[in-house]
Amino acid sequence: MNRDDFEAFFNKNEGRFILGIHNYCDRWCERCEFTSKCSVFQIDEERAKNRKSKDDFAEIVSENFQIVLEMMEDIIEEQDIDFEEIQKEKATLEHNAKNHPLADKSEQYLKAVNQWLKTSRSWLETMEHDINKSQELGMATPIQITDLKNINEAIEIINWFHIQIHIKIMRALRHGPLDLDFEDLIQNDINGSAKVALIGIEQSQWAWGILLQTISEKENEILALLILLQRIKTDLLKYFPNAMRFIRPGFDE
Ligand code: SF4
Repeated sequence: MNRDDFEAFFNKNEGRFILGIHNYCDRWCERCEFTSKCSVFQIDEERAKNRKSKDDFAEIVSENFQIVLEMMEDIIEEQDIDFEEIQKEKATLEHNAKNHPLADKSEQYLKAVNQWLKTSRSWLETMEHDINKSQELGMATPIQITDLKNINEAIEIINWFHIQIHIKIMRALRHGPLDLDFEDLIQNDINGSAKVALIGIEQSQWAWGILLQTISEKENEILALLILLQRIKTDLLKYFPNAMRFIRPGFDE
C-alpha cells in the first residue's frame, strides 16, 4: 500500500471511522468491539488480504514509515518548520520524561512482571497440566476448573498491559507543558495517554486480585506487585489530575 492507496482507502471509507479511536484504546483488537469503525484495524485487514506471506511484515513496516515520512516532509515544507529545533525540543522532552519518578516506577513494574511471568511459567504449566490430567480422569473439582480458567485470563490481562502501562505513561510524560492556545485543558494527548495507562492499571489490579485469591503460594510476590501498581496509579492521578475526565473517542461516548 503506497500513499495514494492509503488516501484512496480513506476517501472510499469517508465517515465510516471514529477519528482517533486507535490512539486511546488498549490495542487488544481481538477483544475490541470497534474493529469496523477503526481505520488502523481496517487498513491492517486490507493489507492482510493482499499479503503474500508473513515475510511481508517487514515490507509493511517500511511502507508505513515511507508514508509517514512523505506526510511529514509535506508538513515541514508547507509550514516552514525548523526541523533541527524540533529535534532539540524532542531530546529535552525525552530526557525529562525518562528522569520523571513515574517513568522509573512504571519501568520497575514492567521488569518485575516480566521476571514474574518468566519464573512462574513452569510452575503455572505444571499446575495446568495437573488440573487437566485430573479433568481427564473426571477427578477435577468445578472450583479447580474455574480457578484455572480465571488464572489463565488473569495472566493474559497482566501480560497484555504490563508493557502498555509503561508505554502510555512515557507518552504522557514526553508531551511537555500544554499549549492552551492549541490544546484543550481536558481533551489532550497527555490526559488521553494517562487515562489509557490508568485503565490498564485497573484491569491489571483486578487480574492480580484473581491470582491473589487462587495462588496462595505466590501471595507475597503478588502483593508486592499490587503495591507497586497502586503507587503508580496514585502518582498518575497526582500528576495528571484530569486524566479520567478525558473522553476516549468511541469508548467513552
Ligand atoms: S480501536 Fe480497537 S480495533 Fe482499533 S486498534 Fe484499538 S483495539 Fe484495535
